[in-house]
Amino acid sequence: MGFRDSQPRPSPARFYFRPAGILVMVALWSDLCDGGDATEHGKTGFGSVAMSWFHSDLPKPAPSLSIKVKEKLKEELVLRVTNMDSKPGALTKKFSVTDDREILEVIDCFGCMLPGWWSMEAHTHKPYPSRYEREGETSKKAAIKEVYIKEISDHSYRWSFRARVTHKNKLIHFNTKRSGCIMSFDIVYIQGTEIRIIGSNNCALALSDKIVQVYSFSGSGGIRHSNQAYTPYEATWEIQANKGMEFTALDEDATFPRIILAKTSILDVCQKERDSFVDVKKKRGSYIQEQIESGVQPIICVKGGKVPDYSGKSLSVIGVSTILSEPETEAVADLREWMTMHWAWVGTQVIMLFRTAGSHGTITGYSTMEACVEITTQNLYDEIKFENEHGGVWTQGWNVEYRGDEWDHQNLRVFVVPHSHNDPGWIKTVEEYYQERTRHILSNVVRSLQKDHRRKFIWEEVSYLKEWWKDASPLEKDGFIALVRNGQLELVGGGWVMNDEANTHYYAIIEQMTAGNLWVVDNIGVAPTNAWSIDPFGHSSTMAFLLKRMGFRNMVIQRTHYEVKKSLASKKSLEFIWRQNWDSKNTTDILCHMMPFYFYDIPHTCGPEPAVCCQFDFWRIPGYSNVLPCPWGRRPEAITDKNIEEKAAMLLDQYRKKSTLYKTNMLLVPLGDDFRYSSAAEAEAQFSNYQKLFDFINANSRMKMDVNFGTLEDYFQALHGTGVTDFPALSGDFFAYADKEDDYWSGYYVTRPFYKALDRLLEETLRAANILFVFTQLKCNSTFGRLLLKEFRQNLVLATENLALFQHHDGITGTATNHVVADYADRMHNSLVGLQKSMLASVELLLFNQKKQNANWFELEQSRSHFTLLPVKKVINLTANHMHRVTIFNPLAMIVDHVMVLLVDSPLFCVFDKKMRSIKSQVAPEWTKESLFTGRHRAQWETHLPALGFETYFLMESNSYGFCQKAVLATLTISENGIACPEPYQCTTFPNSKDIQISTRTQTLGFSHSGFMKWIKDTQTQEKIRVEEEMLYYSTQGGAYVFSPLREADPLVEKGGLLIMAQGPIMEELHLVPKSKFGGKPIMRSARIFKMTSIVEMEYYVELTGRVFDNKEVIVRFKTGIENKRTFFTDSNGFQAVARKTYDKIPLQGNYYPMSSLACLQGHGHRFSVHSRQALGAASLGNGWLEMMLDRRLSTDDGRGLEQGIMDNRPVNIVFHLLLEKNISEQPPSSSQMQSLLSHSIGAKLNYQPIVYLGKAEAFENSEVGSLVLMQKEFPCDVHLVNLKSLKSSHERSDVLQYGLTLYRSGWDRSYEKNGFKVYDEQGLNLFDIFQPVQVQNIVQSSINFVHDSIQVGYIEQTPRMERAGPGKRKGFIDLNPMELQAFKFSAVKQDATISE
Ligand SMILES: [Zn+2]
Repeated sequence: MGFRDSQPRPSPARFYFRPAGILVMVALWSDLCDGGDATEHGKTGFGSVAMSWFHSDLPKPAPSLSIKVKEKLKEELVLRVTNMDSKPGALTKKFSVTDDREILEVIDCFGCMLPGWWSMEAHTHKPYPSRYEREGETSKKAAIKEVYIKEISDHSYRWSFRARVTHKNKLIHFNTKRSGCIMSFDIVYIQGTEIRIIGSNNCALALSDKIVQVYSFSGSGGIRHSNQAYTPYEATWEIQANKGMEFTALDEDATFPRIILAKTSILDVCQKERDSFVDVKKKRGSYIQEQIESGVQPIICVKGGKVPDYSGKSLSVIGVSTILSEPETEAVADLREWMTMHWAWVGTQVIMLFRTAGSHGTITGYSTMEACVEITTQNLYDEIKFENEHGGVWTQGWNVEYRGDEWDHQNLRVFVVPHSHNDPGWIKTVEEYYQERTRHILSNVVRSLQKDHRRKFIWEEVSYLKEWWKDASPLEKDGFIALVRNGQLELVGGGWVMNDEANTHYYAIIEQMTAGNLWVVDNIGVAPTNAWSIDPFGHSSTMAFLLKRMGFRNMVIQRTHYEVKKSLASKKSLEFIWRQNWDSKNTTDILCHMMPFYFYDIPHTCGPEPAVCCQFDFWRIPGYSNVLPCPWGRRPEAITDKNIEEKAAMLLDQYRKKSTLYKTNMLLVPLGDDFRYSSAAEAEAQFSNYQKLFDFINANSRMKMDVNFGTLEDYFQALHGTGVTDFPALSGDFFAYADKEDDYWSGYYVTRPFYKALDRLLEETLRAANILFVFTQLKCNSTFGRLLLKEFRQNLVLATENLALFQHHDGITGTATNHVVADYADRMHNSLVGLQKSMLASVELLLFNQKKQNANWFELEQSRSHFTLLPVKKVINLTANHMHRVTIFNPLAMIVDHVMVLLVDSPLFCVFDKKMRSIKSQVAPEWTKESLFTGRHRAQWETHLPALGFETYFLMESNSYGFCQKAVLATLTISENGIACPEPYQCTTFPNSKDIQISTRTQTLGFSHSGFMKWIKDTQTQEKIRVEEEMLYYSTQGGAYVFSPLREADPLVEKGGLLIMAQGPIMEELHLVPKSKFGGKPIMRSARIFKMTSIVEMEYYVELTGRVFDNKEVIVRFKTGIENKRTFFTDSNGFQAVARKTYDKIPLQGNYYPMSSLACLQGHGHRFSVHSRQALGAASLGNGWLEMMLDRRLSTDDGRGLEQGIMDNRPVNIVFHLLLEKNISEQPPSSSQMQSLLSHSIGAKLNYQPIVYLGKAEAFENSEVGSLVLMQKEFPCDVHLVNLKSLKSSHERSDVLQYGLTLYRSGWDRSYEKNGFKVYDEQGLNLFDIFQPVQVQNIVQSSINFVHDSIQVGYIEQTPRMERAGPGKRKGFIDLNPMELQAFKFSAVKQDATISE
């Protein structure tokens, strides 16, 4: 929570103090300096202060607090709190503050707000005798008929009413021409109407020391218009108390409200005009120490807070405002309930209150790292009823109407945008589609556009364009470029593919966009600025963020829930500013156009009525394309002089109707479909018929319409040109997607998990390979090296393209046909093999400076022989009596502790570090699915790996090396009698009584006798949290896309499984082979806990390969004791966490969300996280539950065009790292930054694992040790090295090389233990000093696709600050904000020197 960045201005004076406890901000104080010219309300002055309590590690120090006060930005006054006095259970708290001149008694303004805060002025202003009060009490004149306050006006000459005084504004002394004072108080009538009474001089003093009470008031005249600038309620009148006014104290009467609060959400506050008043109820961190310690989260109500004049993101509490803590009203009770339910969302909107510069005690509230938006998708979900009401001709909408005069002053301008959606693989492979369709489409489009300069077109997929570029004639290519240059043809998005947004990881999205965008820049000479994503099955906010940081200005999306579309359309909010929910500075804003209807084809894009729009898809004219009828009946006809008037009117009507859903007089009408414009005839049918219609409409001024072909750029330029700026800001994402009824596309989060896992393996390998390439290139100067680099470069390019291809929305989604999946997987597998080969050679070169032909000294510890198979581990042949070398590359920019597990052929061995010191190790037998004990063993030991570096260990059979620490034999416990205990281990059986346990010093995992996890215990505090593991399955009838469960999940397993437990000094493991209801072993689970790291690893082997599993979807569910009220988090593309909520109004399948790498839930100070190595789907269907789907097998198609089930399941290993954390404070996290540092670190280590190389025994005669560190210093723990890669392709010989570096600084939740991690704030980052053998030069900031250098891509431009740091040494510090991705280009000088340790 960096309030540093969000400091409100003006803020000349604040102070902070630090007792123990929790990060909270407290506003307190009144007139430290009452020096303002205090003659008006709310005038800005100076000399105000704010305090904050920070968390500190000290255990409850005495309340001796240092307070620094800055006055007028110049003077400093140091105050000390000398005493803190609080009554147990009371809301009030007093403490004394000394400024060394006098002791002031302060009452905590939040604890005693009504009205004690204002009574603080009593310290400096002694009240005058209350003569008027005395008179008031004694005055008992004849009653005047009571009036309703709301009827009061300047005609109300005599008036009388009873009311409660709710708020006394500050007594103001003035000393101008004459001295005196004024005061006002607000009163509330029994019905809740409010009015203000203002008195001056003595009159003002009458009530100044009274507490809230009910009075009867009467008087005559004195009614005048109120000054709305200081009136926080609706009344337009106020009463000027005069001598005739009388008032009498009455008995307390509860029927008079104590305060009237109009509910306002923080979001609404953002919308208020400046200087308007709002009432806000808000939760904050607790500020009263007792409350902090008891974990209470008080609710503050602010009545009459003022929205100041800067960006609407703060709330000032001025003199007329009232603040209450925990008032007992119904509204607060509601709010408390709401907060319990929605903790996560509230958490994103923390208001910090500061007392600042106002002379009348202004408190300014502001939020940190919180976007100010009108719409959050979560709020939409709360609002929408999901009733799927039938809308008439627009089934999912309503009967759209218009008056007809809407365009009297401005014509409707329609941009018809021809497009062709080309899937790089779906029913057919990318190559098949290219040959049969796409190459013709591209050629056709060029020819058609050349015929008429009014014709336009947009193109998205660069993977296809690159293929066509190889085949096209120079004339065609020149034609293509000319069309782009003259604006007829626009490259939109320009990614390698149109990527999926649910399963993809941000690393791969950046890679695929960069691959496409750089190709476009290099070959066409333009950079795409408008994104076009019309087919991915739901849209992520991370994608919007990435596009923004790539320099995109506008984007178009299509597949969002039909109810969400309808809701946004009804608010004219289908065009919005998409903003990240953590972005308080609006640097992530990108304009998004959401298409309103069911689909992107022509029947669903011209207007709300598909039956009409279909008649304007001229490729459906009978005779052209007989396979494509209009399912709604009437088919199109060619446009002729006869029918043109009727047809133009029909089309005009649809355009007009559609335009009523948007704010401006600009209308976007896509014109295309899958693989369209594939023949000249088709292109002519569309272009010429439409042109006839356009010419007719444009020539007819009564139609008030200008309609033309356009590109996205044409449309968005016109849109921005309208001057309309009130597009609402929106945060959140669009999952789960439903296209109709209860058809939720949540199945594809999991479909074909085997290939989703392969994708991530390729990602982490490509990342590591890019890094190794950079260092190899910098070191390499031999002929052999250049050959190696050439091949390495080719392998990198190929792997990048194949990884990019798989990010396609029918690739990683698993929604292609079997042979297409095989094509993708084969490409990925080959890429993997190629990268691994180059990396092996590069490792040798880096470690041993080998200038000879590839020495082939290393081999991979594990590899796979076919794309459908799981990797196989190499067995180290210890009995061969060699010293075996194990070299490990850590690709992370942080030091990693990792437990190595290798397969060996003997249990008798010792492990040595690189200095040949014998170290602790453990050995356990190997078991597999096929055979319980294989006779082989698993060697286990702890490694410490340098950041971005290599470490080497040695193994040797202990018989041949006398004096070393022999591997400790694991103790085995086996569930079944009759199984032979493997030699040379000792076996026991499980005792019947207690839960089975495996443990480390910090954590113990408890299991039932069936082998399922039951609980996790903190070994030190003995606190035990229920975490019950269940293996279940859904019976379903969906398909590749749609998850469609028939009922709740059923148990998959029965009693009587097999259990093996292995325990030792390095790790403990419990292996479970449950008995399946369906026979076979469809699922096995290994639970592991590592002594060094305390990481809890759960590995699930899933094999749904038999027909008996048809239409079954297998899940693992953890039922925890954590009260999450069915709210939880899943990550968005591995970049940020998104809060999710389970709704009863949505069916089960609609409550499933994509997880790329994380799902977690929290409540009551505990958080349970599941980190994953691959994309899956997750849900929280019951209180405290978290479930992940592991695999699905479907015999049927789900009617979305694929026309097959999913039956090609492969055995898959799914690995989770579980984390149970207890928070150290209750600071509400913002959802996107809710991961702790520990969770970030676990996620990174799971996803970017060490790469293990085995030295071939014969290769190391001379015991050269290969240990190498490529970084000077590890990164701060919250900074991740996303990418480091070589950018230029043809300059291997060049001495100056160009590199790209991408960094991500994560946000993290400070209410969890820091665990000793060093973070960016403490360490900073100096770009010149990152890497070990590299001389970094000429650093420039770039967009994350490396397309735009030093252009505005949202964040503040910067060049690294140069600082002298000792003789001849420069420092290149950069500023990196939390939740920020930044890319840099730099050059580096080749070094001839050998890299040494
Ligand atoms: Zn598609």
